[in-house]
Amino acid sequence: MHAKTSANPGNPILGHYVQGGAQEGQSGRYGTVFNPATGQARLRVAFASASEARQAVSAAAAAVPAWAATPALQRARVLFRFKELIEAHRDELAGLITAEHGKVLADARGEVTRGLEVVEFACGIPHLLKGEFSENVGSGVDSWSLRQPVGVCVGITPFNFPAMVPLWMFPIALACGNTFVLKPSEKDPSCPLRLAELLTVAGLPPGVFNVINGDRAAVDTLLTHPQVSAVSFVGSTPVAEHVYRTAAEHGKRVQALGGAKNHMVVMPDADIELAANALMGAAYGSAGERCMAISVAVAVGDAGDRLVKALQPKLAALKIGPGTLPDIDMGPLVTGEHRERVRGYIDSGVAEGATLVVDGRGTQVAGAEAGFFLGASLFDHVTPAMRIYREEIFGPVLVVVRAGSFAEALHLVSTHEFGNGTSIFTRDGRAAREFTHAVAAGMVGINVPIPVPMAFHSFGGWKRSLFGDLNVHGPDGVRFYTRLKTVTARWFADGSANTVSGGPDYKMPTMK
Ligand code: NAD
Repeated sequence: MHAKTSANPGNPILGHYVQGGAQEGQSGRYGTVFNPATGQARLRVAFASASEARQAVSAAAAAVPAWAATPALQRARVLFRFKELIEAHRDELAGLITAEHGKVLADARGEVTRGLEVVEFACGIPHLLKGEFSENVGSGVDSWSLRQPVGVCVGITPFNFPAMVPLWMFPIALACGNTFVLKPSEKDPSCPLRLAELLTVAGLPPGVFNVINGDRAAVDTLLTHPQVSAVSFVGSTPVAEHVYRTAAEHGKRVQALGGAKNHMVVMPDADIELAANALMGAAYGSAGERCMAISVAVAVGDAGDRLVKALQPKLAALKIGPGTLPDIDMGPLVTGEHRERVRGYIDSGVAEGATLVVDGRGTQVAGAEAGFFLGASLFDHVTPAMRIYREEIFGPVLVVVRAGSFAEALHLVSTHEFGNGTSIFTRDGRAAREFTHAVAAGMVGINVPIPVPMAFHSFGGWKRSLFGDLNVHGPDGVRFYTRLKTVTARWFADGSANTVSGGPDYKMPTMK
């Protein structure tokens, strides 16, 4: 295992993973990784200095020529072995996620599976990289397009999916012939480091995949490094914007996915029990720490009273506790600091006059009093002017907004600052169609609360939920991690070169 016991007393220290092996941190700066269910420090994680980040890029850059020249079929075979290793280690990986993020084990296993699906997609890379060919675009002239790797790619990832979000990125980047430097969240780094070890076991050559832990010092070095060609980021909107601007200014291609405030529209004709069950999972699963969590329910017409009534007993029945225990629905928040931030939002909703139907602030978990637990909260009669409506809370807080009509609900979703995912619950196909067509959001669900696209489609939001042109994974992932080259070729018959004009031709060439 990668954790090395420090000479210092206290917790083991997690370092980096460069050139196919674990590397101790040299900077003398560390962060603390907690077990959120106990509130205890679990590990210390080394924060890379700029020079350590540069070393990781150098290792990745040195590995580019041989890996890019490796046939796609051979690269896919490494990914096939990696897929088998993830399957064999699924429970171990889920255990690491739960130990540092806090989400329940079943949810962590689900996360690993969604990441695994991207590896399965990337295993098809020989097919995905097939180009386009046009025969005889002019007399005796053929033209074709092909996709080639971009070089060193960087991934910077958030705490809430320590396996799935890195797996959105690097399997496709590697399959396309690139090398990679991952800077995972400093809050739960163990699972990404374990994935790096498994890649080595799968036969990936040293330097092709590297992990450096750390904070802004490491990130900013990667964003400005001349040998980095492409940057994928997932995290909060202010950091996404910083990453997008800085990396683009330094000539890199960038995709930077940011925060969200996902709305579910509940029409008066919807099956309210179905909608309430869907909302429970989508709002409180993973303690609301999902970029695709539903944090706003827009109840249209008379759906509001029925919906809030249906939700109340479900909130009362929600089982909160350590994610390692069976039958727990919701674990703790990731850190004590984040819990205080979420609690502050609940205070602000009360102060701004929203109706706090269920207050999770006082919830205690017997036997785990020091854990970062917060009960589930439900607000009703929330208005668009309130902070709890405008801002991303990223915790177990659902707000209900009342809308007089479908048009009003649609307007709310479409004019919100964020446009990640949204959904509509209805029995009316025409309303669903109109919603799908008109709504300003990147991912839409119809009677599906969390419309996360499968690995062979692409994932991404609109507006301030994504900066850049291309989404992650699926076909857009292949486009992002490759550059297009288009070739136009003519072969002359022996001894008859330059038959076209017999001399230089200064006009814009056209095909005959
Ligand atoms: P975050 O923005 O705090 O951190 C994300 C990454 O950026 C981490 O690796 C972190 O170390 C680094 N970072 C933090 N501050 C930085 C700075 N000032 N300069 C450079 N790097 C910095 O996000 P988080 O709290 O880890 O994750 C939660 C956020 O991620 C939420 O806003 C959530 O909506 C978002 N998210 C979005 C998606 C999506 O698909 N759009 C998916 C998952 C999470």
